[in-house]
Amino acid sequence: MAPNGANKDDASIKICIAGAGMGGLACALALAQAGHRDITVYETASNLGFVGAGIQLAPNMARILDHFGVWKQISAEAVQCADTSIREGSTDKELGHVKLDYVEKQYGYPHMVGHRASLAGSLYGGCKNESERITFKFSSTISQATFFPKPKFTVTPREGEPYQVECDVLLGADGVKSNTRVAMLKELDETADVEDTGQAAYRIMLTRDQMKNDSELLALIDADSVTRWIGEKRHIIAYPIANKTIYNISTAQPDTNFAAATNATYTTKGSKSEMMKVYGDYCPMIHRMLDLVPDREVCEWKLRVHAPLSTWVHGSMALVGDACHPTLPHLAQGAAQAIEDAAVLGVVLAPKRIADAKPETINKALKIYESVRKERAEALVELAAENGRSMHLGQGKAKEERDKVFAALKSGKGPVPDKWADADIQRMIYGHDCVAEAEKACREAGFTAKLD
Ligand SMILES: Cc1cc2nc3c(=O)[nH]c(=O)nc-3n(C[C@H](O)[C@H](O)[C@H](O)COP(=O)(O)OP(=O)(O)OC[C@H]3O[C@@H](n4cnc5c(N)ncnc54)[C@H](O)[C@@H]3O)c2cc1C
Repeated sequence: MAPNGANKDDASIKICIAGAGMGGLACALALAQAGHRDITVYETASNLGFVGAGIQLAPNMARILDHFGVWKQISAEAVQCADTSIREGSTDKELGHVKLDYVEKQYGYPHMVGHRASLAGSLYGGCKNESERITFKFSSTISQATFFPKPKFTVTPREGEPYQVECDVLLGADGVKSNTRVAMLKELDETADVEDTGQAAYRIMLTRDQMKNDSELLALIDADSVTRWIGEKRHIIAYPIANKTIYNISTAQPDTNFAAATNATYTTKGSKSEMMKVYGDYCPMIHRMLDLVPDREVCEWKLRVHAPLSTWVHGSMALVGDACHPTLPHLAQGAAQAIEDAAVLGVVLAPKRIADAKPETINKALKIYESVRKERAEALVELAAENGRSMHLGQGKAKEERDKVFAALKSGKGPVPDKWADADIQRMIYGHDCVAEAEKACREAGFTAKLD
């Protein structure tokens, strides 16, 4: 039996997934475990791609990964966060300190931080355990999708001739530069151009060895803390990963390296001297930390989003993850939301719910997916943007007000301005069981299967 109780011998339909990022991998795994037997994942990159950075593993993500059976190995090398410290970048003065040790008790899973390679690798490993059900086609780009009567698209392999594929369900998990979104919007006569947020992120990983001769830096990698240093229009967030062998540093600052925004993942080599300049007025400890980065290892990500879409679903096709709700990293929820998408798709597309394989039944399932996911994911997109605005305030009334709220935290009172650490926001994000919500929505829509 699959984890959700599906009988693995159930008949299956042909499902194609564009993209093997967190969203695509999680979809493949969720659908295989739901009992589907014919799943193909097409990925432009020749392998799992760029995963050289850390990622926050929030409890809402952990709950799903555990349901998938892959959380144990991820958590084994992740670091559990005991607290978060929000500090002034220029002085290192602590503005706010929030304990996170209650999270596990309240939500069943701790707040952890880990390596992207561990998350992607474990999801991929889960998929490999389902290799009779899931096929991966790397170096293969999907384009020119049409959707009626069934989804049909062109696959362009890096070597060889392009070919056409028709399927029963197409999931567009092809990231913020999604071709499937563009094709869908074209048929709907709509647009949602990718917007420049004006922000970019440096992503840096320092080894314990690089930090070992500096006691202040060693204390950082040894702490079970997520630290955010804030300043006008920019911040740095950092935490130890990989059993504290690596210190992961991620930043956000005005995007000035415009020329470099053209590749598929919006990543590029950044300039170390530019980075040192951007954080020039930060405190000496941060200068020493950034200065440890070897010259050619500054990786810069462009942060891109697009306006909310009118729909995520078109016929038997649905968008997933950054393809439909690209989320700024300031709430640490983008991948978590892509994984929630996948878990919900595993419920609504359970083989027994769509046993007749009719396009109208599949569309009904996907519409339920949209009804469970769209409002929530888009609310978190907005919350992440709002958190960035609040953390990036410059001198003025708004900053004074924010810092008063931080100050009140010292006596244990009030909301946390850095929203991911606020108890009410956590209740909304971590307390949400998307699988239970999806099952409820199916029941309410009369979309019940023998599984129920
Ligand atoms: C600096 C930064 C920090 C972040 N930190 C966190 C965090 O702490 N926690 C968190 O939950 N989230 C975080 N996120 C967000 C998270 O990384 C993304 O939301 C998540 O990776 C999106 O996954 P995805 O699968 O939707 O898209 P992607 O990861 O972009 O994957 C899309 C995949 O599709 C492939 N592809 C693209 N086009 C095609 C095509 N036409 N055909 C075939 N394949 C294609 C791409 O090569 C890629 O592998 C962060 C993001 C950034 C930028």
